[in-house]
Amino acid sequence: MKQGKMNLTTKVLVALGVGLVTGILVYNLPAGTLKDTVLINGLFQFLGQVFLRGIMMLVVPLVFVSLINGAANMGDVKKLGRVGSKTIIFYMSTTAVAIIISLILGVVLKPGVGLDMGAIQTVETTINQKAPLVQILYEMVPNNIISAMANGSMLQIIVFALLTGVGLSLLGEKGEYLTDLFQKLNDLIMKLVEIVMLFAPIGVFGLIAKTFATVGYSALIPLMKYVGIVYLGLLIHATVIYGSLFKVFAGLSLRKFYKKFSPAMFVAFSTASSNATIPFSLDICEKELGISKEISSFTIPLGATINMDGTAIMQGVASLFIAQAYGIEMTLPMMLTVVLTATLASIGTAGVPGAGAIMLSMVLQSVGLPLEGLGLIMGIDRLVDMGRTSINVTGDAVCTSIIAKSENAMDLEVFNS
Ligand code: ASP
Repeated sequence: MKQGKMNLTTKVLVALGVGLVTGILVYNLPAGTLKDTVLINGLFQFLGQVFLRGIMMLVVPLVFVSLINGAANMGDVKKLGRVGSKTIIFYMSTTAVAIIISLILGVVLKPGVGLDMGAIQTVETTINQKAPLVQILYEMVPNNIISAMANGSMLQIIVFALLTGVGLSLLGEKGEYLTDLFQKLNDLIMKLVEIVMLFAPIGVFGLIAKTFATVGYSALIPLMKYVGIVYLGLLIHATVIYGSLFKVFAGLSLRKFYKKFSPAMFVAFSTASSNATIPFSLDICEKELGISKEISSFTIPLGATINMDGTAIMQGVASLFIAQAYGIEMTLPMMLTVVLTATLASIGTAGVPGAGAIMLSMVLQSVGLPLEGLGLIMGIDRLVDMGRTSINVTGDAVCTSIIAKSENAMDLEVFNS
């Protein structure tokens, strides 16, 4: 298995590189049937979508079944509460730290100063009115589980699955048959995940080639500073912050973690979707990091929905970028408001491509920054989305590892192997 995983990592990495080069080459081709119909909307689209749809088809059943199993096997409602509160505190505080880092970088490195506004291809953006926070909170409880599943409403599915798991464990012997059935269903879905994973290199190639053939890099040049600072923030968070957390709270090797977790990061990078990465993260947590399913089946889907460290970094840098581009001074109280709203916004940000940029409108509104500023960064948002999604899913797995270690739910032999 280990050998296979090593191969998968290398294969996905190679596919990423080849996809990138192919995408850039195709971007430079003259518009026409070959470029647009045969390659971008033909081959690349086909390979990428088959893979993406393959994973998405498994996300809802996997989250539902594995979480029921996790909650049923945990047995103890008190333990569930303890793990739940630790996880939520961890997720919220790492997100707040992420925004603080990005604001410091934005103040020091000034992404929006000296900007050639004329050179930027602005994108017309329509701003959706976002639901108030209280609504996001009570809507976690589904009023119709079938529609929650059909719409892929992750928080609602999580709530229902947790309740079902708790119910099963309270039923005791009477629930044994069903608990067993869910266990077997879980095994089946994980097998399907393994099959879809075999297609990861081809899918990643298609997704990346399409992105780079469409977005290209010329739009990137005037925004280089903004994109560079976001990526710098992501890098600092992924090394310094996660490194310190690992050291202080778990005494684990971050290097080893990255070696094993990187395939999930590549999938997140190419799909720009935390939700689509759930099956891969769960598989790696269990088989490579030695984390008990009881913990990961709860923390990974929850993290994909409410923990967005990478998105928070983008939102912090973007707020300062927009303020500076429009010559507005960001005061300290304004920055504190950004920390608060972006942390809360992360709860309501779905793990799908582009959701973070939509939620940015809420952050901008909270401090009275011009919403037209969104148009400046929308054209290249996918390129930023790929990086921030990789960190979003990494944050989920870092927290999962630390919580699992603290709950004695990690097999260190597997982690260190
Ligand atoms: N694409 C991100 C994710 O799925 C959310 C975002 O747009 O920031 O985690």
